[in-house]
Amino acid sequence: MSQAATQVNIISPLTGIMVPIGDVPDPVFAKKMVGDGFSIDPLSNTLLAPIDGQIADLQAARHALTIRSADGLEILIHIGLETVALGGKGFTAHVAPGDAVKAGDELITFDIDQVARDAKSLLTQVVITNGELVESITPTHGLKHAGEDVAATVVLKKAVGQAEQDGGEGATVTSETVALPNPTGMHARPAATLVALAKKYSSNVKLVSGDMSANAKSIVAIMGLGLAHGQDVAISATGADARTAAADLIQAIKDGLGEEAEPVAVAPAPEPPAAPKPEPAKPAAPPRSGDPNTLLGISASPGLAAGTVVQLRTQEFTIAELGQNAADERRTLRDAVDRAMWSLGELRDGLEKEGNSEKAGIFGAHQEILQDPELLERADAEIDGGKSAAFAWRKAYTDLAEQLASLDNEVLAGRATDVRDVGTRVLGEITGQLVEKPDLNENTILVAKELTPSDTAQIDRAKVIGFATVNGGVSSHVAIIARSMDIPALVGIEERALDIADGTRVVLDSSKGELRLNLSDAELRAVRERQRKQAERKAREEAAKDDPAVTSDGHRVAVVANIGGVDDAKDAAGKGAEGVGLLRSEFVFLGRTTAPSEDEQADVYSQCAKALRPGQPLVIRTLDVGGDKPLPYLPIPAEENPFLGLRGVRVGLDQPETLRTQIRAILASAGAGAKLHVMFPMISTVTDWRRAKEIFDEEASAVAFSGEVSVGIMMEVPTVGIMAGQFAAEPGCDFFSVGTNDLTAYTLAMDRGNANLASQMDPCNPAVLSLIGRAADALHANGKWLGVCGGAASDLQAVPILVGLGVDELSCSIPAIPAVKAMVRSYALSACQELASKAVACSTPEEVRALVPVDEI
Ligand code: PEP
Ligand code: MG
Repeated sequence: MSQAATQVNIISPLTGIMVPIGDVPDPVFAKKMVGDGFSIDPLSNTLLAPIDGQIADLQAARHALTIRSADGLEILIHIGLETVALGGKGFTAHVAPGDAVKAGDELITFDIDQVARDAKSLLTQVVITNGELVESITPTHGLKHAGEDVAATVVLKKAVGQAEQDGGEGATVTSETVALPNPTGMHARPAATLVALAKKYSSNVKLVSGDMSANAKSIVAIMGLGLAHGQDVAISATGADARTAAADLIQAIKDGLGEEAEPVAVAPAPEPPAAPKPEPAKPAAPPRSGDPNTLLGISASPGLAAGTVVQLRTQEFTIAELGQNAADERRTLRDAVDRAMWSLGELRDGLEKEGNSEKAGIFGAHQEILQDPELLERADAEIDGGKSAAFAWRKAYTDLAEQLASLDNEVLAGRATDVRDVGTRVLGEITGQLVEKPDLNENTILVAKELTPSDTAQIDRAKVIGFATVNGGVSSHVAIIARSMDIPALVGIEERALDIADGTRVVLDSSKGELRLNLSDAELRAVRERQRKQAERKAREEAAKDDPAVTSDGHRVAVVANIGGVDDAKDAAGKGAEGVGLLRSEFVFLGRTTAPSEDEQADVYSQCAKALRPGQPLVIRTLDVGGDKPLPYLPIPAEENPFLGLRGVRVGLDQPETLRTQIRAILASAGAGAKLHVMFPMISTVTDWRRAKEIFDEEASAVAFSGEVSVGIMMEVPTVGIMAGQFAAEPGCDFFSVGTNDLTAYTLAMDRGNANLASQMDPCNPAVLSLIGRAADALHANGKWLGVCGGAASDLQAVPILVGLGVDELSCSIPAIPAVKAMVRSYALSACQELASKAVACSTPEEVRALVPVDEI
């Protein structure tokens, strides 16, 4: 068993310049998904064998082959990028699979001009596909001569028995077992911290708990374990730095991974016998109807559609369970992943070209899922157990999707659909079985157990007028796409929807959360009449979207947009927005695990500013993290009451460098077009405001800023309304913008995410309206202005009341802008003021709403 460590010299297979593998413009190679190695920019056109060995594989397109050495090392050489598409044109192979070769023997000759012209790149990758045999790879640099120079040295691992004798280097080291101290278990934040730490070690690192384990470098896998507080965990590491990795990582876990560690009783007192543990809170169960002709669901995108049902069934694949040979099955899988990555890239690029970056982003996220090491690792383990690539892959992704779906976390559960979607794409590539698409007629209402983001993105808008799915939540990607397409959609519909026959006439009334069958002719006529009126009204509002919102007696209200990034800014400008009243800057870099640099931030803010007209306002809110908004790159210690803890500006004051960087980035983007405003979220005391403003002033003077930027605060906490006079009198505090979502929550002491309280969380509560009125009076007395950027600004019933209270600017969701403007135009200011004074005197939000009837939407 024992043998000495072996060094293998890889002779340069081409004459050319060495390029680090990480610089190859293809994520499959750059992220080392195929393996570690190097790339070479060729100056010669005959590929030579880099080692002695046997040709293990020659691709049909003759653009790539694999050599296996006597030590078992497998080296894949891939000439150019995306050269498979050349179909062998320009490539001549001098060897066949099974041939024995010596280092320096000719393998493939290629037409260098043709490849340079027709392929994405000439860069030729040399990677080791069975990295588990390898201790280290050290590529050299500069110009290499084919068949002469050493391009890289590879040190092979010692056999396990030898490694153990040597004291463990290269062997598996398992740490002590500890009880997970994180009060809310291994959720996104500690998992992200663990992944970031684990990636510093070259060893393979696993987080182990009982008989479960997950790749500690994969956030998806770690969260998939769903580990709770107190559960036993250990680190198991294999590789050169296994011992340090296991020791350091278990210590980091003990320290809480950036969270306050909560000790776990070592020997808990015996439990009283019959006290059952309360079930963790699940999202509220979807509604169910007793009427056979009405199926209830949750509105993911509002609207009304009358059409015929087409059931979209999940693709079934025919798959053999057992594989032929592990190396071939692995290669089949990797090729399929390669092709899937490529097709996702095509899909994403196409959507980006159409300007649909929201959908494009989803396919970018799918590429990320494919790059997560965990999925391939799980599949490889199955392949090693004798399974076929297709079987192994299907098991890997369905297990992961099921794990995610079972988690008590709506966002992660929503990602299960994405994992299945990516999984099916690769499975289609492995099996060559194309995903069947049903023929669709006009006025189709799609019904499915689950629609994947791929299905949704490819929906033919000319034919599909709505859809309903049994699975999925309102924050799933499918729901996001439905809203961006402005197509009515229900999620969580009753399962019997799947039994509706194709061709059945139905009405999808997602505003009411219903799918209705067997409508009488009279009912259908009523639906058509409603649709006609809605369409007429929408057309009128759209036609006037660029006109200002002026009341019938000449009072102008600014109507601006809430945005989450550059695409929204562009979109808003086209929908009649007169600027941006809230850029939720925490949304811009939401998917990142590392903090964006000052330049990256400045670039985004400048692009937003350029998307608007010169002089239009762009209100950039500094990072509003904490509460229900975790940012993976800005971990916040776990708190008992996160909504009452480090949230909004409090995080910025606690970690001033983050706030300072953001302020510098905002200042750097001034002058790009729009008029910049900086707004601090969650201000609750004058002291917090003064500290934040001081930081702003220090940064402005440090960069000798001479432009114009106004500074203001969010009014989300009752103290700001109650002390509006003091806040409004603060020098340099130019405006408030009311976050009615939080102001309602904090005024009523109701968690904004609590489904049981949702019906009472009404910004039309007279208490909330009174606070807004106080703020308007105080600001106007100081010559300053008041905006509203919470949900109330898009709530048509609230609009005239807010105007009557003295609100100067309504910052709305983009699709609501034309209707909000129309609502303002339909009132006189005097009527709004009368409504406002009646509203603050009401006793309940229902009484307030009764003052402003709105036609059925
Ligand atoms: C609000 O609280 O109303 C608001 C606009 O902020 P967010 O919804 O981003 O917390
Ligand atoms: Mg808020």
